[in-house]
Order: sequence, then structure tokens, then C-alpha cells
Amino acid sequence: MPATPVLASFRRIVVKVGSALLVDRDKGRLRRAWLAALAEDIGELTTKGAEVIVVSSGAIALGRTVLGLAKGALRLEESQACAAVGQIALAGVWAEALAHEGITAGQVLLTLGDTEQRRRYLNARATLAKLLELGAVPVVNENDTVATAEIRYGDNDRLAARVATMAGADCLILLSDVDGLYEASPRERPDAKLIDIVERLTPRIEKMAGSPTSEYARGGMRTKIEAARIATGAGMHMVIANGYHTKPLKRIAERGPCTWFLTTSTPRAARKTFIAGTLEPKGVLVIDAGAVRALESGKSLLAAGVKRIEGEFARGDAVLIRGPGGREVGRGLVGYDAEDARRILGRSTEEILSILGAGARAEVIHRDDLALAAL
Ligand code: GLU
Repeated sequence: MPATPVLASFRRIVVKVGSALLVDRDKGRLRRAWLAALAEDIGELTTKGAEVIVVSSGAIALGRTVLGLAKGALRLEESQACAAVGQIALAGVWAEALAHEGITAGQVLLTLGDTEQRRRYLNARATLAKLLELGAVPVVNENDTVATAEIRYGDNDRLAARVATMAGADCLILLSDVDGLYEASPRERPDAKLIDIVERLTPRIEKMAGSPTSEYARGGMRTKIEAARIATGAGMHMVIANGYHTKPLKRIAERGPCTWFLTTSTPRAARKTFIAGTLEPKGVLVIDAGAVRALESGKSLLAAGVKRIEGEFARGDAVLIRGPGGREVGRGLVGYDAEDARRILGRSTEEILSILGAGARAEVIHRDDLALAAL
């Protein structure tokens, strides 16, 4: 059996908080003391040097109390209206709770396209990276007011896994209302055993999550297993733990009951594999010998080193990179549309600023978005 991961060893952690933890189910009121303790937990992680991203539900739950729609199922427009009202409150309470720990919060609202379309993916990724660099904790939710049935995640478990992938996190924590994954539904079989570690997502594990219609699955284990598939595939470990305890992150650190899903990869390696293998290149960048050497020493690809551009592509698309002799040097996600890339080809960083204006980036492909071919 592999060892349980040590929480303090992770550098970038995404913590997903479900509505039921934040908002009292009966009264629809915020669970303030619990949130304050969780913020303290987060503060302890950041003090130890980890970067933390929060994915928080609760907008709809908070909004329905305010709008007097507390009872019964909501229609789509009603839940959107509730989210519009509740999200303001949600962002406010997070900002306040984190500020108490000396942490600045930044609200990030995403829709499906922000993680699924490559151009927007790069934009959202850059914003999250900048917030973390500036020492802020991003507090993410789905932009429920504009997300309609076809373009929504619908659940924050998968949203959290996508955000964690996008941010290159090495750990995803799903705070839930159960201790973790059980061999059988604990509601049907009170003696069911909690699984400590899942090394691989097998059909047997999926079965334990229950069928989509079972009572247990509605508790959300199904979407949590899907989140585990996304997270472990993207090179991070994931843990499901019971959030109802005061300071649930401390409880995970102290090896309280929970279920870990392990990855065999790292975020960096998984991203390189994804760039190298799964994406169809839309164009070719031919670069000079100096740029080849720069890439091979771990640098980004600058416009100055690009000699020629072939094909039509958009920012975020995969492109092939060829050296002077035509040899494939690698592949990467390009930071510019083909049209802009052609305008800045061979230019220095200052020239790029005067051609494309402020906000232009020097890198045509950032080193994090590069996968070099084996030499
Ligand atoms: N985005 C929704 C909200 O904030 C919740 C979705 C979920 O809980 O999975 O209310």
C-alpha cells in the first residue's frame, strides 16, 4: 500500500467547498464560525508557503434565502437570479474571512468555455497565476448567472478539477459531507468500510460511487469520482474529506479519515504529455538556431527567434516548432493568433510593444506551454 500523501508537501492546493458546508440547510444562513475556522486553516497553509485556490459553491443557496425562494426545486432562471444575488454575498463573506487572516481574496467567475476553449483557457490560467503571484487567494465559482444548461459544469466538483488542472495545482481537496469513498453506501450499510487510498480508478471503484440515480450518488460521489479522473489524469493527488469538522484541512494534515486518489504523474509531466500528444497542431513556427538553444535550456520562445510562420491558428492552439534544418524541436500552445504572430516575427520585445500596444507579451510560446521533442 502506498503512503498517504503529506498535506504540507504540496505547493499549490485547490480547496473545494460545497454549499451545504457554507450555508445552513434549514435556515439558509451562512455558517460563519465554520468559515472563519476554515479561513484560519487556509492561512496556516499559506504561511507554510503553499498557494491556495478556493472553489466555493453557495451562491444559489445564499441567494434563495434573500429572494424568498427557499422551498422547492428552482427553474433555471430562478437559480440564475438566486446566484446573481447570492454571489455578491458569497464573495463578500470570503473576502472578509480571508482578510481576517491577512489574506487578500480575488473573485473569479468561470463558465465552461473558460476551461474548454484554448484561447480563454490561457487567459483564465494567466489571471489565476498572477493572483497567486501577488499573494492573493482566488475564490472561484461558476458564473451561474450566464451559464445555461448546455454551457455549464453544473457542479463545482468538476469545476474544481478543471480549475486545478488549469492552475497546475498538485493537490485538490474536495470538502464534502461524508468522510470519503466507502465500499458501499454508508446509508444502506452502516458498517461499510472507508477506503483510505485509491491507487487507480477501476470499474470497481466507479461502482462504489453508486449509480447516477441512487440516493448516495445524489450526495455527489459520482461527480467526485469524475473530478478524481480529471485531477489524477492531470498529475495531481486528490482527497475527499468531511468538511463538517471545524478546521477540516488540519484534520486532513493530521491524517484523519478521508480518501486519497493518487496520481502517478506530476502536473508538469501531464501537461507536457497533453501538449505533445493529444492536440492536433494547427500551424508551424520555424525558429533560428539561437532560439532552439534557448528552448533546450528551458526558456520560452520569443518572437525575436521566429523566422517563419505557416498555417492559420488562434491563441491557445497547438503548433509545431521546427528548427533551421526542418527538424521538429517540439510543440506548444501558441500565445498569439497567426495574424499577430506574423506582425511580430523576428521583433524585439520593445518593438512588439509598439506594434501591438501595451499588454502584449514577449513570449510567442511560454515555457510552461512547451513540450520539447526528445533530442
Ligand atoms: N455554483 C453553484 C453555487 O454556487 C453550486 C454548484 C455546486 O454546488 O456544485 O451555488
